[in-house]
Amino acid sequence: MEPLSRRHVLALSAASSAAVAATTAHAATFGNPDRPAEGAVNTNAAARSDPGPKNSILSDQFPSAQSPPPTDVGDMPLFWSSFNIAPKRMQGGGWARQVTQADFAISEAVSGVNMRLAPGGIRELHWHLAAEWGLMTNGACRVTVLDPQGHASVQDVGVGDLWYFPAGFPHSLQGLGSDGCEFVLVFDEGKQSEYNTLLLTDWIAHTPPEILALNFGVPQEVFKSIPLNDLWIFQGKAPGALAKDQAAVASGGTPPNPFTFKLGETQPFKHNRSGTVRLADSSTFKVSKTIAAAIETIQPGAVREMHWHPNADEWQYWIKGEGRMTVFDAGPRSKTADFKPGDIGYVKKNQGHFVQNTGTTELQFVAVFKAPEYQEISLSDWLTHTPPALVAQHLNIDPAELAKFINSRPGIVPA
Ligand code: MN
Ligand code: MN
Repeated sequence: MEPLSRRHVLALSAASSAAVAATTAHAATFGNPDRPAEGAVNTNAAARSDPGPKNSILSDQFPSAQSPPPTDVGDMPLFWSSFNIAPKRMQGGGWARQVTQADFAISEAVSGVNMRLAPGGIRELHWHLAAEWGLMTNGACRVTVLDPQGHASVQDVGVGDLWYFPAGFPHSLQGLGSDGCEFVLVFDEGKQSEYNTLLLTDWIAHTPPEILALNFGVPQEVFKSIPLNDLWIFQGKAPGALAKDQAAVASGGTPPNPFTFKLGETQPFKHNRSGTVRLADSSTFKVSKTIAAAIETIQPGAVREMHWHPNADEWQYWIKGEGRMTVFDAGPRSKTADFKPGDIGYVKKNQGHFVQNTGTTELQFVAVFKAPEYQEISLSDWLTHTPPALVAQHLNIDPAELAKFINSRPGIVPA
C-alpha cells in the first residue's frame, strides 16, 4: 500500500465505525505491526462491545483508554493521575491535596500539591527536605522566605507567576485580595508530602519554655498562649502593604536573586499560530537550580511536536482545555491517555511523546522537570539534520519527500 492510501485508511478508522468493516483488511497492515493486530479497527462489533458493569461518567472521560489507537502497543506504567481524585485536607483558611509517588508510582522525581488559600488564609511558616516550586493559577498570594545568609524576601505573586524555595529554606504563603489564591506546588522529590513538613508551631510547642526564654531573650510568660497543636493552614488577617512588610524584614539584606519569577512576561521559547511555549529555568529564574519549567499553550487540533527530554522526567499539570498524550518507549511500547484540567501527566526521561489538543478551546499545561536547565530533542529536527540518504534508507521514504519535512523545530505544529 502506498503512503497516501495508508493515511486514508487511518482517517477512515478514526472517523467512522461504519467504515471499519470495509477497511479492516487494509488496516491490519497499518499501525500496530505486531501480530495479532490490535485496535478497534481490527475488530468486529461484538468484539468491540463493552456491556459492563461500568461507570459511564468516568469511563467516557477516557476515550483513548476505551479505544486505543491501533498504533498503541505493549504495557506501560500509568502516566495519568489527577488532583480531581485526590482528597482535600480542608481547614479554616484553605485546603490542600496532593499526588505523591505513594499514589502515583511513576512520579519518582517530583510530587505535586494543589492548594487554595482564602483571603488572609495562611500556610504556616515551615520548611522541608525537598525544594519547592510553585505556579499561581488563581488570585494573588504573599510569599516570605529566608536564605541561610539571613537575606529575607517578601513578595506578592499573581496568576502565571512562579516561586522557588531551595530545600530547607523557611517560608510561608498567604492569600491576598478578595478571593485569596490557588496554586500548584512541585517538590523535587517524589516522596515529599505536604503533610510531612517542619512546622514552626510544632517546634515551639515541643521546646521547654525556659529554653524558649533563653533562645529569644524574653521571659517565659511571653509563650503562655502558644498553640499546642500545629496550624498548617489557618485563617489569618489580611496583611498590610507589601512595602511595609518588606521594610520590616530589610535589616538582614536583600537576596542576590529573587525567589519569584514572572513567567508570563518572558519571551516565548516557541511561538506560532498553533501555540506558545514559555520557559523558566536557572538561566533566567536563577534561584531555580533544581527545577525547569515550560508552560505550553496549544490551539485546537494542533500538536506539540514529537520530542523527548534527555535530561529529566516531565511532570505535567493540565490547566485548561483537553487533549491526549501518547508516550513511546523501547519494547516497543506506546500508550495514549486523555487529560483534562486538574489532571497530572508524567513522562520518564528520554521517552518520546506528543500532545494533541482534542478539544475546541485552547489547551494549556505546565511541564516541570527536575533539572537546572530545560532541554528537548525534536524528532523532525533530528531527521532533517541527519544525512538524507541515511534517513531515507531507514524509513523507505523518497528523499524528495524527506526534503519537505519540517526542519525548524516549531514546537507546535498546526492541525
Ligand atoms: Mn513549603
Ligand atoms: Mn515534553
